[in-house]
Amino acid sequence: MLPTTLSKDTIIALATAAGHGAIAIIRLSGPEAISIVDEVFKGKKLANQPSHTLHFGTIRDGEKILDEVVVSLFKAPASYTKEDVVEVSCHGSPYITEQLIKLFLRKGARLAEPGEFTKRAYLNGQFDLAQAEAVADLIASDSALTHQVAMKQMRGGFSQEIKALRAQLIHFASMVELELDFSEEDVEFADRSALRRLITTLQQLIFDLLKSFEMGNVLKNGVPTVIAGKPNAGKSTLLNALLNEEKAIVSDIPGTTRDVIEDEANIGGIRFRFIDTAGLRETQDTVEAIGVSRTKEQLKKASLVLYLFDVTSTTPEQLNAEVAQLELPQVPYLLIGNKKDLATPAQLESFEGFENLVFLSAGNKDGLSELEDNLLELVHANEAMTGDRTIVTNLRHFQSLQKTADALQEVLQGLDTGLTGDWLAADIRRCLFHLGEITGEINTDDLLDNIFTKFCIGK
Ligand code: GDP
Repeated sequence: MLPTTLSKDTIIALATAAGHGAIAIIRLSGPEAISIVDEVFKGKKLANQPSHTLHFGTIRDGEKILDEVVVSLFKAPASYTKEDVVEVSCHGSPYITEQLIKLFLRKGARLAEPGEFTKRAYLNGQFDLAQAEAVADLIASDSALTHQVAMKQMRGGFSQEIKALRAQLIHFASMVELELDFSEEDVEFADRSALRRLITTLQQLIFDLLKSFEMGNVLKNGVPTVIAGKPNAGKSTLLNALLNEEKAIVSDIPGTTRDVIEDEANIGGIRFRFIDTAGLRETQDTVEAIGVSRTKEQLKKASLVLYLFDVTSTTPEQLNAEVAQLELPQVPYLLIGNKKDLATPAQLESFEGFENLVFLSAGNKDGLSELEDNLLELVHANEAMTGDRTIVTNLRHFQSLQKTADALQEVLQGLDTGLTGDWLAADIRRCLFHLGEITGEINTDDLLDNIFTKFCIGK
């Protein structure tokens, strides 16, 4: 549990990653931040300096110089936490940072809890809860798309959408509640058909947001891409080529890729999670049989399927049969004719007319960049990933949106059955409550602890 009397304490943490580096930054925030540093900083008196200035000097423990540092000064409320903040940039040695932090602790600071700087920023009104959560997502982002989504959320895009929805509902809630004050007179301030229109519009918007969560997850965790095909088609070789390393076991004994191998590659700013599978075929071998059933399992989870076949030993008829046997669910797929280096022109031509088909040679990486282009095209063809659409990536937001959707449905049912204003108002309030949970207009200590303890210390 984080302390609730936040502003009394001055907190401290290492803001940069642990370990050796060119520099390290120690951050202090709180009412004593400036005076604590002033006590041990030999240079200008920080309390007398204007905000947003840098100061060179030494940090001393008594007569002993611990380091030469540059101090950055941010005076309340013009700082991340809206409190007085001092950042001490020192030499990036774990020994030095430890000595400095111990010294500041002795002078009255206390160690920050995980996420406590950001929690203070939120509690002091720097941003709302969804934006605060996006800070953690931004730090965790590792591809162009996760970065873009987190950045948009941090800058308030998602919050604005939620707040606009709430504002419209608040208007109706107050109209319905106004009616209650005039209950004797049987008046309707809230136009029921306009309310119904608003609810259906909101439902559609929330439905889109809920749907985007699936894509949000894909963005965060990587596009699950299954590599399937008969034994010896070259799946492991292709996986190695895509990953550029020797992770999967390559062998020319059919059926040696027994386990499902997963690995990730960042292609064109999108993270792909490649799943290599054992060959798809009916088999008596019990170990291999497990592999085959796993392949079918994996296919169900795939967002993309790469179906690999050996062009030198597969006829178009066989390929058709194999594709049919796959019982592919409705996921985008690519057919990959591998080993084109061994194929005759006639063999390649025989596959004319197949859609979504590319030839390559996984063995010598010929055609790999075309394959990567095709992969990106398939992902971008999914409209949820293109354009400016808001994508929900956070499970907590997803759950609150689901509860909002349920409550909206009840408002609609209430309208259908001519529910009285007081019940209608209660259902609308419930929608408002769940929407408010997302941006933190509604919060509890437990909720905040749950969110901020997942942050790293120092953020
Ligand atoms: P898997 O069973 O589908 O995983 O197939 P592997 O990746 O183990 O490959 C089977 C055999 O085909 C290995 O001997 C590979 O070296 C070979 N192979 C894979 N790709 C190519 C290719 O593009 N050209 C040629 N000539 N051989 C390949």
